[in-house]
Amino acid sequence: MARAGVVPDALLRRYLLPFDTAECTEHECGVLVVGSGIAGLTAALAASRSRTVALVTKGVITETNTWYAQGGIAGAVGEADSVELHLADTLVVGQGLCDEDVVRAVVGEAPEALADLQHLGVRFDLEEGGEVALAREGGHSLPRVLHSGDATGAAIQSALTKALGSSSVDVFERRFLVDLLTVEERCVGALVLDPEDGSFEVFWADAVVLATGGAGQAYGITTNPLIATGDGLAAAWRAGAEVADLEFVQFHPTALDHEAAPRFLITEALRGEGAYLLDSDGNRFMLGVHPLAELAPRDVVSRAIERVMTQTDRHNVMLDARHLGEEHLRVRFPTIWAACADAGYDLARDLVPVAPAAHYVVGGVRVDIDGRTSLPGLYASGEVAATGLHGANRLASNSLLEGLVFSRRIVRALEEIAASDSSYRVAVEGVEGIGNAEDCASALRELRGTMQRHVAVSRTNEGLAQAADVLESLASRLPNASVNSEDLELRNLASVAALVTHAAWLRTESRGCHYRLDYPERDDVHWLGRTVMCRGSEPRFAPIHAAHECAAPASVPEHVETSD
Ligand SMILES: Cc1cc2nc3c(=O)[nH]c(=O)nc-3n(C[C@H](O)[C@H](O)[C@H](O)COP(=O)(O)OP(=O)(O)OC[C@H]3O[C@@H](n4cnc5c(N)ncnc54)[C@H](O)[C@@H]3O)c2cc1C
Repeated sequence: MARAGVVPDALLRRYLLPFDTAECTEHECGVLVVGSGIAGLTAALAASRSRTVALVTKGVITETNTWYAQGGIAGAVGEADSVELHLADTLVVGQGLCDEDVVRAVVGEAPEALADLQHLGVRFDLEEGGEVALAREGGHSLPRVLHSGDATGAAIQSALTKALGSSSVDVFERRFLVDLLTVEERCVGALVLDPEDGSFEVFWADAVVLATGGAGQAYGITTNPLIATGDGLAAAWRAGAEVADLEFVQFHPTALDHEAAPRFLITEALRGEGAYLLDSDGNRFMLGVHPLAELAPRDVVSRAIERVMTQTDRHNVMLDARHLGEEHLRVRFPTIWAACADAGYDLARDLVPVAPAAHYVVGGVRVDIDGRTSLPGLYASGEVAATGLHGANRLASNSLLEGLVFSRRIVRALEEIAASDSSYRVAVEGVEGIGNAEDCASALRELRGTMQRHVAVSRTNEGLAQAADVLESLASRLPNASVNSEDLELRNLASVAALVTHAAWLRTESRGCHYRLDYPERDDVHWLGRTVMCRGSEPRFAPIHAAHECAAPASVPEHVETSD
């Protein structure tokens, strides 16, 4: 059996494909931004005020996780609220692993950053008196979440996309980041594929901002769209940047169990209004699990659902909202009503099948308080980054905020980067072979199934070791990468899956969204710190500074709810 602490040799290569930049179409820019969600667009727009900026994104601009965000974006803008309260709530949910300086910087800048978003054209819902309407979500001690109906992400994405149209940013849609280019241990640009004709382009840049989002597609069941394949994380890992906190993957308990991908998220608000969770015999199984029953914290509900699914040998449990009445359901939850109807369920008459789904990757490319990675010239923002904001779990609606504020910080920090007039050539040989789509499809199924079975809501040493075995064998069987974005995504997912498994195996305790059945307690004596990994080095443990221990007392609740 493989040690789950080992990343398969086949995934340790520096570059995925052979190339010679001298034979590629070349572009030069001051700043290259990869990704067009809230993090990428914010960085590109701000940087374009003083630099030439190119933005590459693998689909159309609006194909992002940002688009799907429902609940909203957090910020201490209410009269009764304060930066100190937002800070305190974030630290509690992060269960001892937040970087307090980072939390302070992000929540401190939130009011100004949100006002700037409004000036850019984002319309948050308003109260009758004209002040911004604030929602309360799990883990927040008071209403703090700005929202645009139940489609906040789309509202933000649309406004930023519109602003991009009147900016000087050079936009390249349907371009796939293959690898980051390094010369003398500095990131100097990126190798990008045009999947339509299989040609490579090179973007040389004084600085690269990675904003490629999450990796929910590493799991069989996820709320994330198809673009979330961890490409940026894997490319940064190959380029030698440190990654951190990858054991922390947040699952949402109630995603609609249907064929379509991604799985549609059914918000906690429906349970908040009184919907029940039932097992296959029609019993409300949450009653015996937690005093808050269906409204227990998200990780508690996910684990209870998982237990029932195992006991009943089914891949879902049932959500029962029938007693809430058709009129109320239609008016209060129009989006959910429509999504259920599309999947063939009448929310007022049918039980709706739901199951936990991978939702948010807390870890990522390790950055400092200004978004610098450990690789000079490379910055990271948004879900791809491990900033230390979330610690061991994410406070609801803090992730859009993280991308927004970190990208602003990065652009301020870019003043340290001087324009370079060096010219480079990077050439790589010796990677050969062409994969075929059939190999990819079955390998992908195996990978996702393995992550879903062994590295999801609850983990054990045995399961993680089995996952490591499967991933190692899969990595060795993968065909050599071909000039095909699905094949490249598969390799990236294999790397991310191995790293998440690795980190989860290392952390022999339960904290935040990492739960080990064999180590069910939080262990501050041994684990008050972050797991950091870097290609070619042993993993290391970075203890949290003593000041942060004080900020997150040992008496914090074992489980903390989040709700977007
Ligand atoms: C259903 C759902 C609901 C959510 N609700 C909320 C909420 O209410 N509040 C909240 O704060 N958070 C929410 N989240 C989380 C939040 O949406 C994300 O964490 C956040 O939008 C990430 O933003 P980002 O800019 O980092 O990445 P994304 O918005 O995912 O953008 C990533 C970009 O990178 C591009 N990209 C990826 N790989 C490559 C490549 N190889 N080459 C080129 N480009 C590439 C993609 O095409 C995309 O443009 C939700 C998430 C989901 C899935």
